[in-house]
Amino acid sequence: MVGAGVELLMFEFAKAKNSPVSDDEMVADLRKVAAALGTTKITQKLYRQHGKFDDSNIGRRFGTWNKALEIAGLSISNQQYSDEQLFENILSLWQHHGRQPKRAELAEPPSDISQGPYNRRFGSWSAALEQFVDYANSSELTAPNPKEESLNQRKTGRDPSLRLRFKVLSRDNFACKQCGASPAKNPEVELHVDHILPWSKGGETTIDNLQTLCSSCNLGKSNLTE
Ligand SMILES: [Zn+2]
Repeated sequence: MVGAGVELLMFEFAKAKNSPVSDDEMVADLRKVAAALGTTKITQKLYRQHGKFDDSNIGRRFGTWNKALEIAGLSISNQQYSDEQLFENILSLWQHHGRQPKRAELAEPPSDISQGPYNRRFGSWSAALEQFVDYANSSELTAPNPKEESLNQRKTGRDPSLRLRFKVLSRDNFACKQCGASPAKNPEVELHVDHILPWSKGGETTIDNLQTLCSSCNLGKSNLTE
C-alpha cells in the first residue's frame, strides 16, 4: 500500500521534472544567441534557428517579444548609458577575469550591459576597449575630494575613481599583492582595491596608498586591524 506521503513525493517529483523554464534561463539564452551571432537584433525567426527554447513561449512569458529583448538588454529601446557606466562595466569585467574581457563575456555575469550599447556608442567592442584604455590611462593619480569629505581636512575622498582603480590593478598585474592569487588563473579569486593605510586612519586615496588584494587577504587584513 502506498501512503499519502509517498504519493505527494511522486507528484512533486513529476512536477519538478516538467517544471517550466525560468525567466532567467530564457533571458540568458537570448543573450547567448545575441553574443554568438554578434548582433542585438534578434528576431523571432533568428532565435528559432539558434535558440534553445520556443520563441512564442518567450513572447508570452514577457508580454511581447520586444519586451523580452528589452529585459535581456538587447533592446530595441535603445537605452542610453553614459560613457562612465559603459567603462565601469568594462572595469568590473576586467577585474573579475583578471585580464582584458572578451566580447562574449558581456552576455555573462557580472556584466550589466550587453554588447548593443557598446556597438552603438563606439562602433565595435574592440573600439570600446581602446577608448576605455585611453580613458583609464589619462592622468589622474588621486581621488577627487567631494565637498562633504573636505571638512575633515582630507586631501582625497575615500573612493578611488575608475582611473585610479584601473591603474592600481594594472600596476599589480591583476593579482593579489600579498598571496599572488589572480582570477586569470583561478576564476574563484575576487580582487579588491584596498587602502594600505586605511582611509579611516588618515590614509589618502592615492596610487601609492592603494594595492590589489584578493578577498581572503583583504578579510585577513581587516581582522588584523580590528
Ligand atoms: Zn591574497
